[in-house]
Parts: sequence; C-alpha cells; structure tokens
Amino acid sequence: MTLRDEVTQLLQELIRLDTVNPPGDETKAAELLRDYLAGHGVESELYARSPERANLVARIPGRGDGKSLLLLSHTDTVPANAEEWQVDPWSGEVRGTEIWGRGALDMKGQVAAEAVAIASLAREGFEPAGDLVFAACADEEVGTGFGLEWLCEEHPDAVRTDFALNEGAGERIELFGRIFYLCSSAEKMSSPFRLLVHGRAGHASVPGIADNALVKAAPLIERLAAYRPELRLGPETAAMIEAVAGRQLEPAEALELARENDQAAAELLEPLLSLTLSPTMISASETRNVIPHLCEVDVDCRLLPGQTQDEVEPVLRQVLGEGDYDFEWIDGRGGTRSELGTPLWSAVESFVAGIEPEATVLPVCVAGFTDSHWLRDAFGTVAYGFFPARTMDPQLAARLIHSADERIEIDDLELGVNCFRHAAVEVTGGG
Ligand SMILES: [Zn+2]
Repeated sequence: MTLRDEVTQLLQELIRLDTVNPPGDETKAAELLRDYLAGHGVESELYARSPERANLVARIPGRGDGKSLLLLSHTDTVPANAEEWQVDPWSGEVRGTEIWGRGALDMKGQVAAEAVAIASLAREGFEPAGDLVFAACADEEVGTGFGLEWLCEEHPDAVRTDFALNEGAGERIELFGRIFYLCSSAEKMSSPFRLLVHGRAGHASVPGIADNALVKAAPLIERLAAYRPELRLGPETAAMIEAVAGRQLEPAEALELARENDQAAAELLEPLLSLTLSPTMISASETRNVIPHLCEVDVDCRLLPGQTQDEVEPVLRQVLGEGDYDFEWIDGRGGTRSELGTPLWSAVESFVAGIEPEATVLPVCVAGFTDSHWLRDAFGTVAYGFFPARTMDPQLAARLIHSADERIEIDDLELGVNCFRHAAVEVTGGG
C-alpha cells in the first residue's frame, strides 16, 4: 500500500469515530491509533484523566544524542449539524480528490499524516538520535483540562521535547505575485473582557423616570469601535515583513504598502500589528417594556504575544472614559511565541524548498489559541504550526473549518506525511 492510500484510509477511520467535543470521547480515536501504530512496531501509551478521554503518546526512542521532536495533534472536533452538509459528516467519504467529514482539516487530517509519518519511519528501521514523539490529545476544542494542559502537568516526561510541530498554519498564499507558505511561530492572547454598564430600571412607557443602561452602553461601544491601537512589531511580524518587502519597514509604512498593493496582504498583516477589539455580545432587559438597570457588553479582545492585561487595562479604561460601568476580564489564554532560525525552522524551509523552490516560508502569528501554548509555557519547547496545503485554496479551507462540508484534498494529506517524515529526519538527526 502506498503512503497515500495508508493515510487516506486512516483519516477515513478517524472521521468515522464521532469525537465531537463536548463530550469528546477521544478514547475511541486513541485506541484506533494505538492499534494502527502497534501494527507498525511503534509502542504507545494512553493517558487519561477520565477513561473516555484518553490522550495517546507514542515514541521512537532516540539514541540520546540528538534533539527531540513532538508531532502534536488533537483528536476532538467541534460539532457538525448534518442537515447543513452534503454528506454525512462522519462518513469519511472520498469524493473526487477529497476526503469529506468533520475534522478533515481541524485536525484529523494532520493526526493521520503525523501517525503515518512515524509509523512508516518505524517500519523502515528509522533510528533517530533524539526521540521522535507523536501525541494525539483530547479536549483541544473546549479546553476543560483533559488534554495537553493536563498531560504537561501530570505526565510532563511524556510530552517534553525540544521541538514540536502542531496545527496553526501551512497555507500556500500569493502576495505581491510571489508564493509563500505560512508557518505559525506565535499566537495572540485571547483576552475577552466584559463591560457591566449600570443604570436604573423603570417602565419603558415612562423613560424619564429610569436610567437606561442599554443607552448608556452605546457610546462606550462606539469609543471601542473608534479606537486605533498603537502599532507594534513583534519579531515574527518583522521577519514576515522583511521576507515579503525585502527590507525592514515601520509598521505603519508596511500596512500602507500592503493596503495600496495587495488586499490579502493587508488583511493578513493588520491584526498582527496591534491588539484587536470586537464587541460581539450584548444583553440588557429581558422584557421589552422594562428599561434595563444593567447592560452587559462582551468584547472579543486579542493581545499581541507578550502584551499583558495589566498593561492594556489602563489604556482601555482611558479609551472608554468616565462612566457608570465596571470593566472585567473574562479570560486570558495563549499569547506565546517561539524563536525563529531554529533547526525546526530550517526543516520547514528545506521541505518547502523541495516541493516548490520559488516559495518562501513566512512566519506568522495566529489570532487563535492552539495547544502549542502549553508546551511553550511548560517546557520552553520551540513549537510551530505547520501542515502544508498546496492544493486546496486557503480561503476555501478557512471557510470550511468549524463549518459544513469540511474536507481535505488527498494531495495535501499526502504532502503532510512527507513533510512530517522530512522534519523528523532533519530535527532528530535520524537515519
Ligand atoms: Zn484544531
């Protein structure tokens, strides 16, 4: 069987196991992977905080004189509403050149590609200098402490490595007429906050006697919308600009250049230069004829890696100005980065050079949170998000993730296997 057929079959089997989180039930996927890997001589261990939510960690032990690499993934998925799909979301059906089903892109495709990479190396007799580790974790999508976060705390030796490859990027994009592959080296911090705007209730037929909290929230929302945060250049974004423009630019200059020449470049760059604020939820009175005494506004806020809530809060309070409201952070997670110019970075570059010599690897900071955060925080692991997608249009892929008709090109799946095999050999110094 070819690697292409092998990874196709494994992905189909993974999609057919419903691991929608909640509730997750990732043990089914962990057992499937354990049996598959054992069939190719790779031993693995299941680690579960709760029996039905197992994480799988497999390893080809190194000789002890090289760098270790973790191929990381998660086996849970977001839900799927079958009525919105053209196929059964848990069918794993092959249609033309694609495999369809929930998780095909996020991220059972990468689970399968990483598993086939380590299994195929093992049966070829691969003997790395450093450990090659494969971890398929539970509970990434909801994040309630059953997955990698828990493994890092309770079984750190199982998942501590020098380097890690995870989800996050890998898209092939064109900017200014040139070809780039995105590799994520950093993540913004998800840092939503809530405004509790206070007023006084009253009957809606006599507005003069009340103090309408909803009306008082309106100018606060407008101030947030009008705010233009200070632009800043992190190392990954500076490197990105230099790779595209051919020289260092100030952030405002880079943004202007992008806006004038390439809309896609502007959309990519803008959120990487500052924190972002998007008011998304509001609640006030439950009853139409009652003036609300309280209005709650939730704001999705993403900080740059390294930016802290302590640093940002006074700025936001100044933007909001005086008023009858309380400000509270709802959450704060992520916001880590890994350095560039490492052996893993070189491995990604040499892989891309091998498949498309005219393409350049572009470091990118992603807006969302991934499990890479736990590794960077716990062990200082250099973690990148890279699963190359050469065939599927990146805009289509972005639309399908967490949505109906999710599917992956089999060409991209096969490319992923080759990528992870290449990175394993390059980083762990195997042969
Ligand atoms: Zn994911």
